[in-house]
Amino acid sequence: MYGLTFQDYEEGHKYTSDNEHITANPTPDVIREPDRTVSPLDNSIREPSKTSKDVRIRPRIPLTMEDFKLRSVLGRGSFGKVLLAKYKNTNKMYALKVMRKADIESSPKLDSLLCEKRVFQAVTNRRYPFLINLFGCFHTQDHIIFAMEYAAGGDLSTLLNNKRRPFPESRAIFFSACVVLGLEFLHEQKIVHRDLKLENIVLDEKGFAKITDFGLCKEGIGYGDTTGSPRGTPHYVAPEVCKGKPYTRAVDWWSFGVVIYVMLSGKFPFESHDLKKLTASIIKGKFICPEFLSRNSTSIIKQLLTKKVKARLGASKKDAQDVKEHPFFEQIDWAALLLKNVRPPFLPDIRGAEDVRNFSSAFTSEYPMLTPPKKRAEIPCYEAEAFLDFNWRVDWN
Ligand code: ATP
Ligand code: MG
Repeated sequence: MYGLTFQDYEEGHKYTSDNEHITANPTPDVIREPDRTVSPLDNSIREPSKTSKDVRIRPRIPLTMEDFKLRSVLGRGSFGKVLLAKYKNTNKMYALKVMRKADIESSPKLDSLLCEKRVFQAVTNRRYPFLINLFGCFHTQDHIIFAMEYAAGGDLSTLLNNKRRPFPESRAIFFSACVVLGLEFLHEQKIVHRDLKLENIVLDEKGFAKITDFGLCKEGIGYGDTTGSPRGTPHYVAPEVCKGKPYTRAVDWWSFGVVIYVMLSGKFPFESHDLKKLTASIIKGKFICPEFLSRNSTSIIKQLLTKKVKARLGASKKDAQDVKEHPFFEQIDWAALLLKNVRPPFLPDIRGAEDVRNFSSAFTSEYPMLTPPKKRAEIPCYEAEAFLDFNWRVDWN
C-alpha cells in the first residue's frame, strides 16, 4: 500500500453524499459562554478531573489571520489544506485547517462544517487528550479556518510510509489503545467519526496518538441508532456502508480493524485499484492475516472485521469496553493511559518547533499561503450569516 493514495480513484476518494438528511442541531453559538446549548458534553462522562477543566471563553477578541504567521504546509485533504502557523502572541505553533468558502457551495456542506466545529468544541471543552483540540475558529472573506493544537509527530500514514515497514506490535498496540480512548469518548457523546484511517491519526510530540478530522462526524448516534448516507474512505468503510444500508456506530470499529491491519502488515485487508471491485470485496470477500501476526493480533482483527454487524467486536451496548477487554490490549493500563501516565513506546524525532520532517515533503515543499479562490463565492445570505458562527476561541495558551 505504500505510496497509494485515494486520489488514485477516478471517482473521487470519498463517499460524501450530499443528500444526507442532517438532523444535527443547527443552533448557532456565537459569542456565548461555552456552547452548553449545543455541546453534547452535557452528558456526564467517565474521565479524570485532570482533563475535565471547563474552558471559559474570553470576551470575544476574535482570532484573525493577522494573529498568525504561516510557516509550512502540513497536509492536504479532500476539504482543504492544513498549515503550520505561529500564533504571534505566544509564539506557539498551531495547525490551521483552511477551507475555501467558494468550495462550500451546498448547505449540507455547511452543515457538516458546523458539525465539525461542534465536535471540536465538545472535545475541547473537556480537553480530551486523545482527540485533537481546537484553539479557535474564524473566517476571512474567502476562507474558514480551524486553528487546532499542532501534532508535531505527523500522521500514522506518513510514519508508516517513511519507515516502509509495518510497525512493531507493541507500537501498534499503543497507538490502537489511544484510538480506542478517542472513539470511546466520541461514542459516549453519541458521535460517530465515520472516517477513521491512518491519515486521521496524528502523534503529539511525546508520541501519544490522537484522532483528528471531524469533518465526516455525525451527531446524535447512540447505541442502536442508525444513519443513512454513505460516508468514509473506500478502503476503510464497513460492508454495511458499501451496501448503502442504514448503519450504526459500529462502522467505526470496522475502520479500526482496518487501521490495526494496516499498521501491522503495511497492506490493506481488502485491496483493489478499481472502486467497484474493492467495494465487492469488502462486502463479500475474505481477507488473509499474514502468518507473522501474533495470535492476539489476528484475533482482534478478525473480530473487528466481522461483516455481520451484531457479531462485530465493539458493536454491543458496551462499545469500547468490549474492545478494551480483548487480550490484544492485555498490557495496557487503561486508567494510567487516560491520565497519560505511561511512556509511549515511540518518541517522534522532532528537532525544534518548526521541524516538519514528520510530514510529507510533497506538502512541506509547498509555499505556505491561503490560496485565493478562482472566483469569489456568491454566497446566499443565510449561508453568509452562518459563516459568522465560525468565531470561537478558548482562553488558554
Ligand atoms: P480528508 O477529508 O481527506 O481526510 P481533510 O481535508 O478533512 O482530509 P484533515 O484530515 O483534517 O483534512 O487534515 C489533512 C492532513 O493534515 C492530515 O492527514 C494530517 O497529516 C495533517 N493534520 C491534520 N490535523 C493536524 C494537526 N492537528 N496537527 C498536525 N497535522 C495535522
Ligand atoms: Mg483527513
